[in-house]
Amino acid sequence: MTSSALTATIDLDAIANNVDVLRTAARADVLAVVKADAYGHGAVPVARAALAAGATELGVAHIAEALALRTEGITAHLTAWLHNPGADFDAAIAHDIDIAISSRRQLDAVVAAARRRSTTATVTVKVDTGLNRSGVAVDEWADFADALAKARADGAVTVRAIMCHLARGDEPDHPLNSQQADRLDAAAADLRRLGAGPEVMHIANSPAALTRPDLARDLIRPGIALYGRTPVPERGDFGLVPAMTLTAEVALVKKLAAGQGVSYSHTWIAPQDTTIAVLPAGYADGVPRLLSGRFAVRIGARSFPGVGRICMDQLVIDLGPDGGGVREGDHAELFGTGHDGAPTARDWADAIDTIDYEIISGIGARATREYVGGDRG
Ligand SMILES: *Cc1c(COP(=O)(O)O)cnc(C)c1O
Repeated sequence: MTSSALTATIDLDAIANNVDVLRTAARADVLAVVKADAYGHGAVPVARAALAAGATELGVAHIAEALALRTEGITAHLTAWLHNPGADFDAAIAHDIDIAISSRRQLDAVVAAARRRSTTATVTVKVDTGLNRSGVAVDEWADFADALAKARADGAVTVRAIMCHLARGDEPDHPLNSQQADRLDAAAADLRRLGAGPEVMHIANSPAALTRPDLARDLIRPGIALYGRTPVPERGDFGLVPAMTLTAEVALVKKLAAGQGVSYSHTWIAPQDTTIAVLPAGYADGVPRLLSGRFAVRIGARSFPGVGRICMDQLVIDLGPDGGGVREGDHAELFGTGHDGAPTARDWADAIDTIDYEIISGIGARATREYVGGDRG
């Protein structure tokens, strides 16, 4: 049993299960998205578990995230797709990182870095097929494609992949999904005509991987589903298993008289003599302040409501007049798989009108990550 105040337990067997679910559903190889510290789960252990379970590649947003994985000895194919003007393309090339390029300016900077190093950069072409976020814009495409073909002919780049990102992947039947795929197919055909054809293609995020195998192409690019959260709840959980369980040790138990208010601004007043407990988890740890008064935690077989304002470092729960048999040092589950009666990250998200992506990726660094399953026994 852990002695840390707040613990995010990460089940690496769940990650492995989820890789398998995704690969089977899409009948394609898996590029595991481990950006943002693997959505708060820990990029290195998750990357290793996903690769061991058969994922063939990894993806992150920033080159710095990719370099951190290389530093830990992860040698798998690794793509980074979000670059600021000062992005270190030299380091990316030196560490064999596939640079996904979103503009002519980025291409020119990568070519310049490759020339400086007298080597060839591996690149992915990221096409804006309708998300209107990153990706080469439509009006820049012809010029970009010509410049890319020239860079390839000059030996400055190898074109490994072409990719795009869906705007409405979580609406599986929306016509935009197929339109985006058609646009990417057309862009790939343009590159082939120019002698700069990509080796592989990827489109599908988690929802598309699970519901639109026709969009899978060579690889799928799932994030949230790897972590076991269903991206299209109306279609079920697909056999995904949530990988993160957040638990806090009960720090303090005490009596409270009827009529007394709890926490800042006394937003909750005890309706009867009761017992309260303090848990060392607050909004600095990713427990949203908006969740105040709208959640419960699980201790043993019982649920206890959160009361009063969630603070930066702590929150309060009401144990009821009999104290619920709870003692200091007991473990309260804040969210988890949902299989044991405790809430899920989605319950939190639904309560405050956001998505579970934001909940799990927001769990802060003060929560000790503990790993179970996988090759850690
Ligand atoms: C984050 C991200 C993904 C993963 O999306 P999920 O919805 O979590 O599966 C895939 N591709 C790109 C470009 C991303 O930024």
